[in-house]
This record gives sequence, C-alpha cells and structure tokens, in this order.
Amino acid sequence: MTRPALPPRDLDPTVRHLYVHVPFCPSICPYCDFHVLTRQAGLVERYLERLEQEAAQLAATYPVDLDTVYLGGGTPSFLRDHELRFLVESVQRHLGWGRVENTLEINPGTVSPERAALWRALGFDRASVGVQSLDDATLKFLGRRHDARQAREAVSRLLAQGFRVSGDLITAVPGQPLERDIHGLVELGVGHVSAYTLTIEPGTEFARRGVQVDEDAEREGFTRSEELLTEHGFSRYEVSNYARPGQESRHNLAYWQGRTYLGLGPGAAGHYPAPVPGPAALTVRRTNPHLHDWLAGQEGESLPIDPHEYVTDALFMGLRLRRGLDLADLSRRSGVDVAGRYGPVIERQVGRGLLEQEGEVVRATAHGWWVLNRIVSEWMEVDAQEVDAHETP
Ligand code: SF4
Repeated sequence: MTRPALPPRDLDPTVRHLYVHVPFCPSICPYCDFHVLTRQAGLVERYLERLEQEAAQLAATYPVDLDTVYLGGGTPSFLRDHELRFLVESVQRHLGWGRVENTLEINPGTVSPERAALWRALGFDRASVGVQSLDDATLKFLGRRHDARQAREAVSRLLAQGFRVSGDLITAVPGQPLERDIHGLVELGVGHVSAYTLTIEPGTEFARRGVQVDEDAEREGFTRSEELLTEHGFSRYEVSNYARPGQESRHNLAYWQGRTYLGLGPGAAGHYPAPVPGPAALTVRRTNPHLHDWLAGQEGESLPIDPHEYVTDALFMGLRLRRGLDLADLSRRSGVDVAGRYGPVIERQVGRGLLEQEGEVVRATAHGWWVLNRIVSEWMEVDAQEVDAHETP
C-alpha cells in the first residue's frame, strides 16, 4: 500500500461530540430497524447503571471536551423524569455537557408543559421531534401512536420553552399529503426539518407485509420538499436536512464533517481517535453490542480506519453537505494527498455533471446526490486498483 504523502497534522486528538443511545420505545413501529425494545421490569435500571460505568470508561480513555451531546434512540423522552435526570447527571459527572448544543429526541406523545420545562432545566436546548406527518391517516399507516393534534401541541410546547425545534418528516408514504405536512410544520415555527424517505428495511414488519415505496413518490419527496421549504426561507444544507439560517444541527454536522465522537449505550456507534494515529489506523470505528451483551459488559467491535478509508468515509459523508468539502482540509487531517490521488476521478465526475469543483472545494450536484454511492465507489476503485497493482507479481 502507498503510504500517506504527509503526516496527519490536523486531526483533533480531543473528542468533542457525544451520542447516547436510549433503546426503549413505547411500541415498535413497523418500518423501524434501529436497536429498540419496549420497557421491561428492571431493564431500564440496569441500563442506567451500565451507562454510567461506560461513561466513566470513556472518560478514562479519551481526552474529551464536549461541544455537542445528542440523546437519540429509541425514544429518550420516553424515560421517566427521574431516569432521564439520572442519565444526564451520569453523563455530566464523567464527560461534561455540550457547550454548543444538547439535543433530545422527542416522541410527540411524551410532551407536557411540565416535562418540556424539566428537559430545558436538565440542559437540553434543541429538540428533535418525531412528527413524521401531520396527517392522521399517514400516522396510522406508519403505526405511530400519536396523532396530528398531539404533534402540533408538542412542537408548540417545546418552542414555548425556548427549544430550537427540528421536526422529522417521513416522505413517500402512500397517500401522504406532503405539501400539507410541510406547510403545517413551517406554520408551527420549527427552524429545522429532517425529511427522510420511507425505506423498507429487511426484517421489519413492513418488509414482511410486502409494503413498497413508489419511486415517483420518492422523487417527489426529494424534490418537492426542497421547493416548498426553500420558499419558506429554509435551505437544504444536507441531502435530507433543511434549516433556517443558524438552525443547522451542529451535532450532525460533526458526523458529516468526519469528526470523531463518542458512542455511549447499547448499539451506539462511535468514531474515536486511534491510540497512535498513523498509516495503519488514523481513527477507530466501534459499534457497541445490543442491550443484553452490552449489559454483560461485552466490548464493541472495533474497526481500524486507515488514512485512505478515512478519506473515502469523509467524502461519502461530506458530499452529503450542500457546502461540500474542502480537499486541502481533508489532506491536512488525513495525511493523504487527496486532490493528487483522486484528481482524475473528480475531473471525470465534474464532466458527467455529478460534482462541481471550486478551487479546493468539491460538492455534489443535485443529480450527484441521487447517485452518491456510485460517486464514492468510483473513488474507492482508485484504492482497489492500487492494491491490485501492489499484489500482482
Ligand atoms: S419511535 Fe422511532 S426508534 Fe422507536 S420504534 Fe418507532 S421509529 Fe423506531
């Protein structure tokens, strides 16, 4: 293998982002393939104890100075008040708290004015609300327990408590009135919208029932969401995410910009600095085991990421951003001469209308966003050809 042309200089050794996975949900939605389960007696207590131990382990292993914390799931807002308080205090005791942004994922059915006030008092300033739709028939089809009225009330209560609110929408649902959903969310006053296409993952109830997503509806969700939200002053700053100025998710931007982050909790994925960053491993990705193995103390599976994998991962994530990514910055972080190595591929992709290049910055075109996998697999072919060249006698 070719060695990196430069030593990696600018890879931040301090971890500044934390994801905490809360796997419990009131019920399991028929399209969900996350690591989730319903509550059982005693399980949440054991989860909270183990979480505190893991937070202490992470604090002892990595230099941590948090900008963002994100509690996702599952349904973190489904935790009872004393449980959530215990969780937050455990994190704060061992790892601190985000100085820039602290997000709580919220199910609309769990919000009351008192609880919204408590969540603010605990230190959350951003709410990611699983609205999914503001149409009762669509919510019913999706197997959601809340209705449109509850979703509206939840968003209004959170805004009244001073949260920055993001509304999640699922698009391409059969029969969904997409325009009404988007107008409804905008009228409520959210500053951020995440719009993901309904996907049918193997093993889910929808897959068993043979539910299919119509390709035209998928395209309509992709293009019409942008048209409508842009009219209302949002910009599409990532393939599936829209924000009013200054309302972007700082935590998710860290993922898309290839930063390292801690993953705490069962099934949580983390991206860590390698103990000694170098050609064999610049960073390490680790996914924690699912709940029962995690409770038993089993370690997650670690995957060393060498500088070239780091670059292709960063490209895949960075090209999701409207602003694209700066190849010179990526070279500094990885030690790989990115423009030199992938220049010919980029040039071809620019010629085919998949990418745009402005100086050192490369970004995907609207068409490129549709075929991101193909774009990045062509970059990876450069690495594969190099390995072949070295292995062929
Ligand atoms: S609420 Fe969210 S995480 Fe929980 S089952 Fe439904 S889709 Fe999955």
